[in-house]
Amino acid sequence: MLDNSRLRIAMQKSGRLSDESKKLLAQCGIKINLQEQRLIAFAENMPIDILRVRDDDIPGLVIDGVVDIGIVGENVLEEEVLDRQAEGENPQYKKLRRLDFGGCRLSIAAPRDFNYTGPECLNDLRVATTYPHLLRRYLSQYNVSFKTCLLNGSVEVAPRAGLADVICDLVSSGATLEANGLQEIEVIYKSKACLIQREGEMSATKQALIDKVMTRIQGVIQARE
Ligand code: ATP
Ligand code: ZN
Repeated sequence: MLDNSRLRIAMQKSGRLSDESKKLLAQCGIKINLQEQRLIAFAENMPIDILRVRDDDIPGLVIDGVVDIGIVGENVLEEEVLDRQAEGENPQYKKLRRLDFGGCRLSIAAPRDFNYTGPECLNDLRVATTYPHLLRRYLSQYNVSFKTCLLNGSVEVAPRAGLADVICDLVSSGATLEANGLQEIEVIYKSKACLIQREGEMSATKQALIDKVMTRIQGVIQARE
């Protein structure tokens, strides 16, 4: 039987958000003993369970109400919401706050010799991306249509490999684009990590715990500003 009395928080198991997510919870005074291979970890001093998963699974776990809270990139969250809306669903969640890490931008990049003059040059091209919905939302403003090459990794090598004309991928420093002979031509979405809560009934004790954690997060973030 699932123990619903404990607050369940989902965070990325290993990747760009995991160290900062771990640090944030630790700074809030939540004592967790994370064993590297374990999916679930239990806080020693509060009724909190930490679920450690792929970042892509976090929005769905929150929207479906499997976990109470999730720490995830806005890019991944927004793409999942658009995907579910495209399937005719009406996904619900509460955004508790934006966090101060995981900053990146979703950008369109083209080979260096591509003569870019505006979004209309992208019409009918093939775009390699993990974020087809965010890309469609952006390009539809300009009435630009495109073909996709859906990849979950190695997006930046697609043009060189002859799989796509351009890419739409996450960028922070731009070094990866540079190393792959690409130029950033359009920023379509700016993202940070955020904290989200599931919709629906929450017991008074759980809600009080969430409020306490949120107050501490507020303090931690303010202190490092
Ligand atoms: P997982 O194995 O959990 O699926 P992943 O490889 O999809 O991991 P990461 O590369 O660890 O994901 O990135 C997680 C999140 O970190 C991104 O969705 C984004 O919100 C943020 N991020 C910050 N900077 C970058 C960057 N330069 N490139 C990619 N993601 C970044
Ligand atoms: Zn992922």
